[in-house]
Amino acid sequence: MTAKAPITQDVLTLPRKMPEGGKVNLVGLTRDAMRDALIAHGAPERQAKMRVGQIWQWMYQWGVRDFASMTNLSKSYRAELDETFCIELPEVVSKQVSEDGTRKYLVRIAGGHEVEVVYIPETDRGTLCISSQVGCTLTCSFCHTGTQRLVRNLTAGEIIGQVMVARDDLGEWPVPGAPNVEGRLLSNIVLMGMGEPLYNFENVRDAMKIAMDPEGIQLSRRRITLSTSGVVPEIARTAEEIGCQLAVSFHATTDEVRDQLVPINKKWNIETLLDALRAYPRVSNSERITFEYVMLKDVNDSDADARRLVKLIKGIPAKINLIPFNEWPGAPHARSTPERIKKFADIVHDAGYASPVRRPRGEDIMAACGQLKSATERARKSRREIAAEAGLSQP
Ligand code: SAH
Ligand code: SF4
Repeated sequence: MTAKAPITQDVLTLPRKMPEGGKVNLVGLTRDAMRDALIAHGAPERQAKMRVGQIWQWMYQWGVRDFASMTNLSKSYRAELDETFCIELPEVVSKQVSEDGTRKYLVRIAGGHEVEVVYIPETDRGTLCISSQVGCTLTCSFCHTGTQRLVRNLTAGEIIGQVMVARDDLGEWPVPGAPNVEGRLLSNIVLMGMGEPLYNFENVRDAMKIAMDPEGIQLSRRRITLSTSGVVPEIARTAEEIGCQLAVSFHATTDEVRDQLVPINKKWNIETLLDALRAYPRVSNSERITFEYVMLKDVNDSDADARRLVKLIKGIPAKINLIPFNEWPGAPHARSTPERIKKFADIVHDAGYASPVRRPRGEDIMAACGQLKSATERARKSRREIAAEAGLSQP
């Protein structure tokens, strides 16, 4: 039986026209697309590029949401813009703050769907974990999102919109003319929330280009990490078209076990995945690839696994991020013991790889890795769907 073809964005991404008022939302358009939109609505071609530059800076550098405040545009043009366009972000429905300072936002997007966004403060930086899809087509056995049906891909505007609402909440838009503030509360982005980012490639790429734009949010590509379960055909493209850091949900050292944990392995197995990863740093000039490895009791956490792991990744500039399994209601796994995790980490470390153990953050508000699943999306996958989506024959 063949695996289900990747869902394309054409099918799943909503058009950009917002339902209310029929205005075109500028959030998420690339510079070229914004230029085209301005021209289509009457801007003279020779001025369009300059206008994009001006509007872009207001939107992404200063966080301005209304055209009336864009004082370097003529009053009449501001009024014209306001008739046709809008600057709209996803709506924050709720915010929870964990005992450890982690913040989880539930944001509502067009169609009434909801996704989760998590902000993790650290001493010298802060990381925003954003979502790329509502639900996920994949069915990794340890992941809560994987039990939720894919509803749709997020648009580029909904993806960058998550960064913008977090900056709103953190009060982090600079004030024009004020001195530069050292350090940033939101200094890093990880695409590790809900969904498989490489099954929504174009929208993720466009959103990350906006995040990296030097006249806007200005995050370096080294501060953006995209995590994939292993969508091999899109890995080289990630290096070429985004150039961000890459993390891979590796999680197992034999195809037999990885087939069970990360079913996409049936399509692109460990060897195929490693071949693609060997080429990645050369293409994007990135630093090391992060191998994510969820520690599941008696499943993938033996000394033999640790030794196999370092053998497999030989020659790849890598760091191994060990993630103690985060529980969720009904999960079929248990977390490895701290002693086991330590032993595993030591073996990897002694082989010359950094092997940090990821400290679970925001567990009390179900914000830790793999716990995200919007409570409003009641639709659960049936066994048949899970089997079909994972490319398995029916049991
Ligand atoms: N779909 C992408 C990104 C989202 S998941 C991917 O799979 O890589 C982000 C990371 O959290 C992945 O490494 C994923 O395997 C891990 N993860 C998922 N569920 C988890 C859980 N319950 N406990 C710990 N880590 C989990
Ligand atoms: Fe999807 Fe990633 Fe969860 Fe797997 S781990 S089900 S790819 S979100």
